[in-house]
Amino acid sequence: MIGDYDVANIRREFPILERQVNGFPLVYLDSAASAQKPRIVIETQREYLAHFHSNIHRGAHSLAIQATEAFEGAREIIKEHFNANINAEIIFTSGATDSINIVAGSWGRANLTASSTVLLTHLEHHSNIVPWQILASEIGFKIDVVELLSDGSLDIQDYKTKLTTSPSLVCFSHVSNTLGTINDAKLLTSLAHEAGAIVLVDGAQAAPHMNVDLSDINCDFYAASGHKMYGPTGIGFLYGKLAILESMPPLRGGGEMISSVSFEEPTTFNVPPYKFEAGTPHISGAIAFGAAIKWMESIGVENIAAHEQALTKYAHEKLLQIEGLKIYGTAEHKASVVSFLVEGIHPSDLGILLDQLGVAVRTGHHCTEPLMNWFKIPGTVRASFAAYSTFEDIDALVAALERAIKMLK
Ligand code: PMP
Repeated sequence: MIGDYDVANIRREFPILERQVNGFPLVYLDSAASAQKPRIVIETQREYLAHFHSNIHRGAHSLAIQATEAFEGAREIIKEHFNANINAEIIFTSGATDSINIVAGSWGRANLTASSTVLLTHLEHHSNIVPWQILASEIGFKIDVVELLSDGSLDIQDYKTKLTTSPSLVCFSHVSNTLGTINDAKLLTSLAHEAGAIVLVDGAQAAPHMNVDLSDINCDFYAASGHKMYGPTGIGFLYGKLAILESMPPLRGGGEMISSVSFEEPTTFNVPPYKFEAGTPHISGAIAFGAAIKWMESIGVENIAAHEQALTKYAHEKLLQIEGLKIYGTAEHKASVVSFLVEGIHPSDLGILLDQLGVAVRTGHHCTEPLMNWFKIPGTVRASFAAYSTFEDIDALVAALERAIKMLK
C-alpha cells in the first residue's frame, strides 16, 4: 500500500480479478482497451434491469418516471464530473467512436466544403481518422496531419505552422492509446481557436486517468467511452458547446429527437441533447456509467492518476532491464500505457505466449496504423494500467516476458 491508496481493497471490488486464466491468476494489463468493472457498476445495472426497467421520457407511469430520473441523473453526473455548463451539452452515445461520427456526420457535413482543411495528428486512433476520411471522400476537403517528435509527443512547432493554413476543424486525442502521450488540450485548443478553428478532442484515453475540466479546456467537442472508465460497453458521451449543438442539424431520425412530425408540415426537431438521441438509448448502460464515475470519484481521480503514474514509471524501469527491449512513447507527460518491442520477436508471438502465462496485454497496431507507419514498426506489445493494477502485475509481466523471450529466441 502506497500512502492511503489501498489497491488490495480496490481489487476486492472487481470480481473478475479473482479468476484464473490458463491456470494462472489473471494479470490484466489491457485496461486501455477496456477497464474491468467494480461491483457497484455490475450491481447498478442489475438493479435497474431487475427492479425499474422501463422506457424513458415517454411513459407517465411510475417505472418510466424512475428510469427517466436515473438516466437523466447519469447525465447530470457526467456534466458535473467533466464540468460542462449544462446537461444539454452532454449527448449520450454508444462510445467515443459514435461521438466522433456524430460530429463528422452532423457538424462536418453542414460546415465543411471542398476548400476546407481538417487538421489531425499522427497520434490519432482510427476512430478519429476514418470518419474524416469518409466525409472527405464525399465533400472533397483536405486532411492535414501534425508531425510528432521522436519521443511520441506532438511537434508543437509543426502544429503552429499547420494552423497558419486556417483549418476549419482541429481534432486531436487528449491521450494517445498507443503511446500514452498526454497532449496539453487547453493549450492546443487555445492555439486552434486563435487560428479560427473548431476543436474536437478525443478523450477516450484521458477520461479514465485524469480530471478533465471541459470549461477550462474550452474545446468545442469532447468524446469519451464509458467502458474505459469502469462502466459498461455501448455507452459514452459527446460533449458539445450548447450554441454549436443548437446550430447543428440532426444526424439520425427517429423517436425522441423530434418536436413534431407531420406529413403536411415540415417535421420539427427537439432541443439538444435529445435532437441527437434518436431511439431508445442504452438506459442501463447510462445509469451504470454514472455509477462508474461516482466510483472513480469515491477513490479520487487524482489518487488513481498518482497510482498509475507510479506504475508507469516502475514498468519503464523494469522493462528496460530486458535486453533488446525498446519502449515506444517516452514523452515527459504520459499516462498509464507502455508500448514496447523486443528485438527480433514479432509482437503477436509475444502476446500469445504471455496469454498462456496468464498475462493479458494487447498486441498489434492498436487501431493506430498511421502511428505504427510513422515509427516504421508493424505494431507493439502494449501493457496498460488502471486503478486496480499493481506493482506485482508488472513483476509478473516481466517474469512472463523473460520466459517467453527464452522460448522464442
Ligand atoms: N479513441 C481512442 C484514443 C481510443 O483508445 C479508443 C478505443 N480504443 C477510441 C477512440 C474508440 O473508443 P470506442 O471503441 O469505445 O468507441
